[in-house]
Amino acid sequence: MNSPEILPDYAIQLKGLQKIYAAKGKMEEKHALKGVNLNIPRGSIFGLLGPNGAGKSTLINIVSGLVNKTAGEVNVWNYDLDKNPREVAAALGVVPQEINMDPFFTPRESMELTAGFFGVPKGERRSDEILEALGLGDKKDAYVRQLSGGMKRRLMVAKAMVHAPPILILDEPTAGVDVELRRQLWEYVKELHARGTTIVLTTHYLEEAQEMCDQIAIINHGEVIACEGTETLLSRMDRKKLIVQPEEAISNIPESIKGLNIERRIDGALVVTYRANETRVMDLLNQIRESGVRIKDLATEEADLEDVFVSMTTDA
Ligand code: ADP
Ligand code: MG
Repeated sequence: MNSPEILPDYAIQLKGLQKIYAAKGKMEEKHALKGVNLNIPRGSIFGLLGPNGAGKSTLINIVSGLVNKTAGEVNVWNYDLDKNPREVAAALGVVPQEINMDPFFTPRESMELTAGFFGVPKGERRSDEILEALGLGDKKDAYVRQLSGGMKRRLMVAKAMVHAPPILILDEPTAGVDVELRRQLWEYVKELHARGTTIVLTTHYLEEAQEMCDQIAIINHGEVIACEGTETLLSRMDRKKLIVQPEEAISNIPESIKGLNIERRIDGALVVTYRANETRVMDLLNQIRESGVRIKDLATEEADLEDVFVSMTTDA
């Protein structure tokens, strides 16, 4: 590990990262990463947000040495993945998307094995402490196969931390984890972060990224389409929808409200997309009323991730 004086500015840096999965059987060749540039600052909780199939796991698996890249550079804690794979591995704790664990070990055994693999001296191991922190204190000697899905996932987080890496990567950490366990997991992650660990997590839930992360990169079809502080990103995509059901069907949108970002849905509802920062719903409603539309029913909706992608890619 590096000495403290030369702590890197960036925990992870990717330059022009590409991945092409070769065609196999009926599967066509897949360009999963199309030249990704990313700088993940040391000390951040960094979210990699994108829909299923965007390339998140491919990116994580390349960084953690499970998948070979096609082109580009990977730098972790100032070490080049090609030149110093062992140093890169030592700097990372990785919790993969898929749970993979030997069912015949107990959590304690599993932790000790991993610690041994990373060469952590016996006197420096903190297996019990980590298991306690993740709410697995009373399961230390149970068999892994007796643990629930959520417990297995937390055990994977525990195993990722045995060698006290400065970076923890979590790939879709809350898949299959119930609300209570999720809260416990986040508490532990926040605690690690407070103690200086850089956290990288992937998710396809905007809300999760929003709640946890101070920076978010959005990835779609193998490309990073936005990378910003969470606040800035959210303010750029504060789109909401106002859905108005008119009393009587209207054949044409009245002239006076055509200037709004307004559409007529197949069921006859009028849908206005607006920015919550700039527009008040009451003002919109008044304009619609004044145009002669009588309102039977109304609702608002948050823009979802799809809308966000659309607005990001069209804005750009
Ligand atoms: P995400 O984690 O964002 O859901 P992935 O990185 O798993 O996305 O997948 C990105 C794309 O690469 C998808 O189209 C997926 O089908 C494809 N892919 C992932 N792994 C493989 C593989 N081993 N062989 C071929 N294609 C793959
Ligand atoms: Mg994935």
